[in-house]
Amino acid sequence: MAEEKETKAAKAAPTLTISMDELQQLVTAAVSAATQASAATVTAAVVEAKKPVVDERHAYNDEQMRQYTKIQRERDAENTRISQESCPHRQGSSDLSSFQGPLSSFVVHVLDTGLPVAICTNCLMKVYGDDDNPEHIKKAFRDKSGNGRSAAGQRHFRDPEKAMKAGR
Ligand SMILES: [Zn+2]
Repeated sequence: MAEEKETKAAKAAPTLTISMDELQQLVTAAVSAATQASAATVTAAVVEAKKPVVDERHAYNDEQMRQYTKIQRERDAENTRISQESCPHRQGSSDLSSFQGPLSSFVVHVLDTGLPVAICTNCLMKVYGDDDNPEHIKKAFRDKSGNGRSAAGQRHFRDPEKAMKAGR
C-alpha cells in the first residue's frame, strides 16, 4: 500500500530533464561551495587557536610585579634623594666604609661635547660643568678628588652650546 502511494507521488511530481554536462556542473558547483565553506570553517578555527590565551593568574601576577617594581623604584629614588642630601661627597662617606678620607668622591668625565660631568661615587649626585650653584661646582670640580678624570673622544659642533645642552 505504502509503496503504491510513493510511486503515485513520484509520478505526480514534475520531472526534470538535464544533460550530463549540466549535472556535472551542478555537482562541481555544489562540491566547491561545500569545500569553500569547510575551508572557511578551518581557517576560522586556526585563527582562533592562534590567539594567545589570556591566563587570568598570569595577568594578575604581571600586574602585581608591575606594582612592586613601581614601589621599589619610588623607594630607590627616595633613598637616592636622602643620600644625596646627607652625603658629604668625600671618599669613604658610604655607610659601609670604616673611615672617611679628605678627598672628594666625585669622578669627573668630559663628554664628547666638551661638557664635564661629575658624579659622586657614593650618592650618584650629578653635577654638570655649567651648573649655576658655585658650591656644587667647587665640590665637584675644584676640590681634589680621589678619582682620575676621564674623557670621551672630542667632537666639534657648529653650535657647541646647543650640543652640550642636548647631549647630557
Ligand atoms: Zn655624594
